[in-house]
Amino acid sequence: MESERIHFPILSETVNGKPLIYFDNAATTQKPKCVVDKIIDGYYRQNANIHRGVHFLSRAATEAHEDARRQVQQFINAGSACEIIFTRGTTEAINLLASTYTDAFFHDEAEVIISVMEHHSNIVPWQLQSERKRIKLRAVPVTAAGELDMAAYRSLFSERTRLVSLAHVSNVMGTVNNVREIIEIAHAHNVPVLLDGAQAVPHIKVDVQELDVDFYAFSSHKIYGPTGMGVLYGKETLLEQLPPYQGGGEMIASVSIEKTSYNELPFKFEAGTPDFIGSTAFAEALRYVNSIGHERIAAHEAELLRYATGQLLALGGVRIIGESKNKAATLSFLLDNIHPYDAGMLLDSYGIAVRTGHHCAQPLMQAFGIDGTIRASFALYNTKDEIDTFIKTLATVKKMLNP
Ligand code: PMP
Repeated sequence: MESERIHFPILSETVNGKPLIYFDNAATTQKPKCVVDKIIDGYYRQNANIHRGVHFLSRAATEAHEDARRQVQQFINAGSACEIIFTRGTTEAINLLASTYTDAFFHDEAEVIISVMEHHSNIVPWQLQSERKRIKLRAVPVTAAGELDMAAYRSLFSERTRLVSLAHVSNVMGTVNNVREIIEIAHAHNVPVLLDGAQAVPHIKVDVQELDVDFYAFSSHKIYGPTGMGVLYGKETLLEQLPPYQGGGEMIASVSIEKTSYNELPFKFEAGTPDFIGSTAFAEALRYVNSIGHERIAAHEAELLRYATGQLLALGGVRIIGESKNKAATLSFLLDNIHPYDAGMLLDSYGIAVRTGHHCAQPLMQAFGIDGTIRASFALYNTKDEIDTFIKTLATVKKMLNP
């Protein structure tokens, strides 16, 4: 959206003498000025450690941090602020859940259903836990169009299935999974569901109560907020049953040398000084998204994706990876027999930032029999003009690398 570009100072930078075209939004989004100002203002005017202080600044910082939690709660429509656990990002959220859930609920051999399209951060944490307890990962395959094979998903349940942990949206292909159906099927087997929402929340209005999802993880930096912040949402009844993740300050009610009793939710899972300035900037990013409106963002991004897909196919020699009808604004592709890395380097020399490689989803690359893709991913501030320049530049890249 042209009118919003002014909010993002970095978009007027040049790279290699060319105006920056930033199409690496699935990796991280740029930040609006209001978010950066919130960080600066936080350090200039509101910096004091939270929760334990009686003095003015500490109380103000505590209030801002807990306000931020309520903002997140409202954003995903959680039932209670105590269900919002601040983490360093999606990765830490999934690790937190993998570790504590394994402790609480995996006794004999447990099976966890994941999928071939998962980001490594929804595979490796489970593998790490399988070094402590007997855990078998069962992966839902993907179809040629890059969708979850739902018949296979249904067939993966057994009496040992303890959790389903799936991406809401694929970071490589943009596929929006049918999470409603995924959750219904899992719940029919009495199995809770964790959704990795890292790529969903920036593009789709998520309502955790309406979805009836049990756990939901996402990152601030992919939705115009600061890095090093994220969320694990969990239903209160389930979070109550999990042991703490890390020990330290904040997460305790009382400590003696022999024994500790733990704090209430959500603090039980938040050991140590949190990023209380990051949380307020994160909340500002969510307010910013609300001020523009999810519907407007989604409609704009859908149009960008439709336009870019058409233009790309018209170029010829393109293989799109992920052709689901229901996609978020992410476009992965291969161009002739050009190595994605070479294309990425050349695009960079024209000021265009895309991501190349396996996108931390090597099992998906294996399923498609490829090493990597070129990925262009869009955000609310991208424009059709930028896509035109991108396509023109790709035509040049094609000529240069494949004369
Ligand atoms: N899951 C998905 C689907 C992602 O795209 C990413 C980030 N690329 C992550 C998890 C990890 O997020 P973070 O690095 O912010 O923890």
